[in-house]
Amino acid sequence: MNYTDAETPYTRIIEHKHFEFGLQPKTVITREYPALGTKNREPYYPVNDARNTKLFNQYRELASRQKQVIFGGRLAEYRYYDMHQVIASALKRCQIEFN
Ligand SMILES: Cc1cc2nc3c(=O)[nH]c(=O)nc-3n(C[C@H](O)[C@H](O)[C@H](O)COP(=O)(O)OP(=O)(O)OC[C@H]3O[C@@H](n4cnc5c(N)ncnc54)[C@H](O)[C@@H]3O)c2cc1C
Repeated sequence: MNYTDAETPYTRIIEHKHFEFGLQPKTVITREYPALGTKNREPYYPVNDARNTKLFNQYRELASRQKQVIFGGRLAEYRYYDMHQVIASALKRCQIEFN
């Protein structure tokens, strides 16, 4: 469940048994808390502010010169994707490349 209000300190709760469609008598949940990507913390999400967008455009320009490599996905496109979106993006790119 996602929590998008300002009062709840976590952004979502995951109840793991639902991934297995189980009927277990006990359950486990995890809560996700938002945190900034700092030196010792992995930055999981793109931060599309002016500085990073400018940097991304420079990398994209460099990458476009690498004709033997197809860059795709969250890092290469520097945008947030859920799984189904990133798979759709890869399939779309395959269609373009193979046609
Ligand atoms: C905390 C978190 C929770 C998420 N929850 C959900 C969710 O509930 N539902 C959902 O649909 N999506 C979720 N996502 C998003 C989902 O994980 C991504 O959409 C998906 O993994 C993106 O796929 P990708 O191929 O773009 O990148 P990735 O899966 O990150 O793959 C990139 C790969 O490239 C490798 N790599 C990086 N640099 C180099 C390099 N220089 N050389 C070689 N290899 C390299 C990495 O090791 C990695 O294996 C979540 C993501 C995070 C971080």
